[in-house]
Amino acid sequence: MTQAKSHTPTVLVLGAGMSGILAGIKLKEAGISTFEILEMGDSVGGTWRDNTYPGLSCDVPAHSYDYTFEPNWRWKSTYAEGPEIYAYFKHCSDKYGVTPHVRFGTRVTSVTREGELWTVLSADGVKRQAQIVINCLGVLVHPMEPDIEGLQSFAGPRFHSASWDHSVSMDGKRVGVIGTGSTATQIICALADRTARLEMYQRTAQWVCPNFDTRRPEWLRQLHRAVPKISWAAGRIQNWILESTFCQAVIGNQRMKNILLKLCLRHLAKVKDPVLREKLTPRFELGCRRLIFSDTFYDAIQKPNVSLVTEGIQRIEPQGIRTKDGQLHELDVIVTATGFHALDYTRNLVIRNEQGQSLGEVWAQGAQALRSVAVAGFPNFFMLIGPHSPIGNFSLTGISEIQMKYIMSFIDRIKSGEVKTLNPKPEAQTRYNAHLRDGFAKTQWVTGCSSWYLDKNGLPRMYPFTPNDYRREMKDPDIAEFDVTATA
Ligand code: NAP
Repeated sequence: MTQAKSHTPTVLVLGAGMSGILAGIKLKEAGISTFEILEMGDSVGGTWRDNTYPGLSCDVPAHSYDYTFEPNWRWKSTYAEGPEIYAYFKHCSDKYGVTPHVRFGTRVTSVTREGELWTVLSADGVKRQAQIVINCLGVLVHPMEPDIEGLQSFAGPRFHSASWDHSVSMDGKRVGVIGTGSTATQIICALADRTARLEMYQRTAQWVCPNFDTRRPEWLRQLHRAVPKISWAAGRIQNWILESTFCQAVIGNQRMKNILLKLCLRHLAKVKDPVLREKLTPRFELGCRRLIFSDTFYDAIQKPNVSLVTEGIQRIEPQGIRTKDGQLHELDVIVTATGFHALDYTRNLVIRNEQGQSLGEVWAQGAQALRSVAVAGFPNFFMLIGPHSPIGNFSLTGISEIQMKYIMSFIDRIKSGEVKTLNPKPEAQTRYNAHLRDGFAKTQWVTGCSSWYLDKNGLPRMYPFTPNDYRREMKDPDIAEFDVTATA
């Protein structure tokens, strides 16, 4: 038997956010330096670079959100703030030597399979080729502006939460925030003490759970920095708490759901005015949409200068927002915290296979992948946080690490010369997606609400089992699930 000849594959990683940096770190760890990371922005960090709105923080505890191999950051609180997380990912990119591989200002426009290679074109006209592509473009990237009449007619500053205009002072201003999601909630808490008048425009009331955030004294931050094992252990404990409560509740554990419901109702009871409390009471089951975690929202919304507007927006006018009851709310600034074109993996990007089919066409009836990381018909094309990743019930960083380990097991086989290409078998992909469908019915996500968690068929776009199930299923990558071509 002849020994397969080892060969370092060329790899293109799309995006230098949390998952792209991770991909770079793991490729380097495997001795692969023949990779480039194509990044549209001028710095690494993805969503944590782009989102800079006041109050931005992560609702997953800090030690569950950092990489397990780089745990000892001096987080200021139980939940990290946006600028801290951005600094953390920049630090990891530099420390692990990923930054020199990043090509900044490179917006990828197409990814096309040509023969045995992927050809990647960017907006600057540069063409690159590689044997492997890893798509790390993220899931909440493209801001969604609301479809409201007169949006452009407002005379004052108006911007989306993901493109915050820091040249506009909020101090002493009359500010309208459209939306009631995690983002709007954080903005309201941050601006309540700074604005003359702050109005939150609510279409749908949301469940808000206390997050028991605590600031850390300096000595504790230093201890975490000095002793990585303490931070690592804190991360495992936080994961365990998260996975035994919230993660269980959203996938159908009624006992956990009822405990969280009690907690949320007790939190809501902090709202003294029964009329306001009624308006803030959600009409859908807890966990159907992403739960909002905030200790301070109900205090903020009850401040004398803050109001909840529930009459519905009729249109936006040069002076402010006119609600359906005919009232004009005069404003100096409008913020649209109206979310994202979530999980829109092929937005502004054409990914085409050798047969000329685009991924957008293949996914016209809903995105499907094999174990979220590979797609039948698209050989040597991998994704981090792809379709049906456990993003509704687990930390994105943890998911990326599990998925990258799985992907690296195949890249190692390519590197060792054992195989040349891997293409998921359609029947393996179909079987995997049927398995996911078995879990959907039990989840809270299908209990009757509109949400970006659901696809156009009303099916969850998330993994419907426990994080432990996911770890188990991803633990032993099975090459039999792929059609492979061997190296000549
Ligand atoms: P979102 O959850 O999608 O909320 C968008 C809000 O805008 C909703 O309240 C929606 O109302 C409202 N809206 C949209 N169009 C509207 C219109 N035409 N008129 C009136 N209201 C309109 O967006 P998000 O708050 O930016 O959060 C998106 C995701 O980002 C979250 O689910 C979460 O995963 C993530 N996030 C995470 C953190 C964190 O701490 N880790 C922080 C912020 C965001 P309806 O509810 O009626 O549709």
